[in-house]
Amino acid sequence: MADLWAYDAPVAPEVVDSVVELGTDEVLLPGLVDSHVHVNEPGRTDWEGFATATKAAAAGGVTTIVDMPLNSIPPTVDLAALAAKRRAAAGQAYVDVGFFGGAVPGNLAALRPLQDDGVFGFKCFLLPSGVDEFAPLTTQQLSVAMTEIVAFDSILLVHAEHAATIDAAPSASGRRYGDFVRSRPPSAEVRAVETLSRLARETGARVHVLHLSSGDTVPLIAAAREDGVRLTAETCPHYLTLAAEDVPDGDTAYKCCPPIREGSNRDTLWDGLRSGTIDAVVSDHSPCPPELKRFGTGDFGAAWGGIASLQLGLSVVWQAARRRGVELAQVVEWMATKPADLVGLPQKGRIAVGAVADFAVFAPDDDVVVDPRTLHHRHPVTPYAGHAVAGRVRQTWLRGRPISLGPDATPRGRLLSRGA
Ligand SMILES: [Zn+2]
Repeated sequence: MADLWAYDAPVAPEVVDSVVELGTDEVLLPGLVDSHVHVNEPGRTDWEGFATATKAAAAGGVTTIVDMPLNSIPPTVDLAALAAKRRAAAGQAYVDVGFFGGAVPGNLAALRPLQDDGVFGFKCFLLPSGVDEFAPLTTQQLSVAMTEIVAFDSILLVHAEHAATIDAAPSASGRRYGDFVRSRPPSAEVRAVETLSRLARETGARVHVLHLSSGDTVPLIAAAREDGVRLTAETCPHYLTLAAEDVPDGDTAYKCCPPIREGSNRDTLWDGLRSGTIDAVVSDHSPCPPELKRFGTGDFGAAWGGIASLQLGLSVVWQAARRRGVELAQVVEWMATKPADLVGLPQKGRIAVGAVADFAVFAPDDDVVVDPRTLHHRHPVTPYAGHAVAGRVRQTWLRGRPISLGPDATPRGRLLSRGA
């Protein structure tokens, strides 16, 4: 693609893995790549839009996001919807933006055209998505979608919770967080991953498990991969840093699906990352207006499920990683290099000759307390309010130039297409 250039680095650094020491209290990291962001524009721009989401990204050291196909209206399930997305994003993006398509009942014939038009993969659900216009696939439809997608070697991204297991679980309603966790048990993720693993094996498709929450799935994924199944997985900052036993009843800022589980489960996710079974850490940034969080009643059944953390992910994860003895270079691999490779952007997410000159200037020991008023997200709703986190992004560079977020700044982000 003509507009993806390599620039000289802004300093003459000594390269140490993915982290370049700047000789001060700062290090230079590659710009992070977040392959799981719900921008919601057009159609639900009052939830989140391209300008606000990409400003938040830039403030958090993220230079590339890939937008999920749902929660915007129309959802990105055909060429007209992809064109609408690009029109909405044009001129508003402070960082680079790519798009995923959706695989929904009835749009099988649209998948290849979307691929040819540059989407980075396809997302689907196995149970209701939360919005009526993005329906789930049956197991049969899932198999057919994989067979279609393997023909052009794209990737199928799956919200992996098994519908019947959740239907059979107790209701989520009420203020008690424990009841919400019980309504979406680990076995729902396990059964979904079993299905995905079987179908990926049968079809040869590349399948990616989104927002893994249950550590019980890790051995299944590891075994499938050892067997040659093309299965990858991601988890999110909230699953790695928060724990069910610490979630206050009625505080629906913590609601997301699948849910934040207990602390011992969190440890198994870290083990899964360390062993390489879980490939990447991405935000699943999924905001909504505060009223949809139902803070008045604190009802976990009725509240929108989603956590917005595009701006905070690095500091949140680094704080927990540092405590667990995990190097910053390892965090960078999970949050930049691996997601870039996953979506097929090998010139992003690394500091290397020939790579795009996207950087985050990060002060890893400059600890801060999260103040929602500093967030660029459209709505400053966050479960991290008041939490101490580690490190501060001081500047973010896009293609060799610092990103300005001032009132007169011109957005310089580009709309990316796969393979362009
Ligand atoms: Zn999501």
